[in-house]
Amino acid sequence: MLNSGRGILTVVSGFAGSGKGTVMKKLIAEHDNYALSVSATSRKPRPGEEEGVSYFFRTREEFEEMIRGDKLLEYAEYVGNYYGTPKEFVFNKMDEGRDVILEIELQGAMQIKEKYPETLLIFLTPPDADELYKRLKGRGTETEEVIAKRMKRAAEEALCIKDYDYLVINDNIDACTERVHNIIQVAHRTVRHEQDIINRIQTELTEKMRA
Ligand code: 5GP
Repeated sequence: MLNSGRGILTVVSGFAGSGKGTVMKKLIAEHDNYALSVSATSRKPRPGEEEGVSYFFRTREEFEEMIRGDKLLEYAEYVGNYYGTPKEFVFNKMDEGRDVILEIELQGAMQIKEKYPETLLIFLTPPDADELYKRLKGRGTETEEVIAKRMKRAAEEALCIKDYDYLVINDNIDACTERVHNIIQVAHRTVRHEQDIINRIQTELTEKMRA
């Protein structure tokens, strides 16, 4: 069901190999209140990835044109490629009452947190580093060099988890998806996201006092 008011913006980050892509797909498939933002990237498509579904694949020049045109909510360079969130889609979907999910890395997440402090930030992690390495290799689409770069990056990212609101361990896809859903639903009940109801109650109380 869609929200009656404006949707919540949620950032989900996690180590490469944390399974966040799978969890997000499941979340979207199981609940119709969510919209997943499709990012733009200068990375080349992996086998099976589709334009406009996995990403909007752009050249570096095209990406830089989007930056100059202020078309992105945030952007970052990650392991040699640009990644960014197209602005328009996010705001339109939130206005429609959808909870919008940005599955983005840490630098982008911190930009969003600074610009939109009411954003909910969730960090997903596999249970331990061994599992993370196994999952990175398991994908089988990256070279050893890229895997090594991503492991190094993960070690740096671990230091920044403290800047997120929630940590969710992905030991089981179903349970993890349910935990993420519950966190977002509870966030709707925080007073900063219930301003419409608060305003209505205040108006009603004032009217009753006058009566
Ligand atoms: P991958 O190349 O594996 O698809 O993504 C690499 C990293 O970029 C992942 O951590 C992913 O969450 C992140 N990413 C994807 N889209 C965006 C985006 O729009 N902005 C930022 N900052 N990171 C993104």
